[in-house]
Amino acid sequence: MPKGSGRYMAWPATTRYGLSVAPGNLGLVQDFLNTITEGTLAPPDLLATLESAQEWADQVLEQWSSIDELGWAKILPRLTENDREALVAFRDQLFEGLFGHSYSEPASGPGRDNPTYRPLMTVSTRGLELRPDGEGWKYFETALLLICHQGQLEGVLRRMKSCKSETCDVVFYDRSNNNSGVWHDVKLCGNRANVRAYRERSAAN
Ligand SMILES: [Zn+2]
Repeated sequence: MPKGSGRYMAWPATTRYGLSVAPGNLGLVQDFLNTITEGTLAPPDLLATLESAQEWADQVLEQWSSIDELGWAKILPRLTENDREALVAFRDQLFEGLFGHSYSEPASGPGRDNPTYRPLMTVSTRGLELRPDGEGWKYFETALLLICHQGQLEGVLRRMKSCKSETCDVVFYDRSNNNSGVWHDVKLCGNRANVRAYRERSAAN
């Protein structure tokens, strides 16, 4: 893949769903979560194989470094199969932590039980700063958690949602005034749910 500035880049996973992306670093968390496959259109789960996971990682790290204002983005080692499995388990944990339901069921693989993450806290003329720390892809996971934490403090994390559809977990960023969106795509998932509800009502009558 050619490197260099000025080339069009986008969040590789979220773009597949044609969604508006979450602002700033939160777009990285959204993209990580959107590596999942969605119910009907079902593009591949980008973390399903080492090859597709590496391809996604290359793209997402480049995109991250192009929008990163915190100086957190860095080059990470090539993924190993262990890293890939850890990312899949972490993705499930993040789904649970943010949206109250896991993505894969049952919990994928020999998951890690509540791994702990240790950010670095520094004091400088810029004030107190929390930064990600950790080896390899643990650094990446820690960064995602810190970005979520920051989004929580700033009140933007609650706008990042998983689609309400039973067959779709796509993660969208709700820009509606009253933060009332529930579908990642009203036409696709909203209509499908309405049709189902209508059929159920008709069947009950
Ligand atoms: Zn949806």
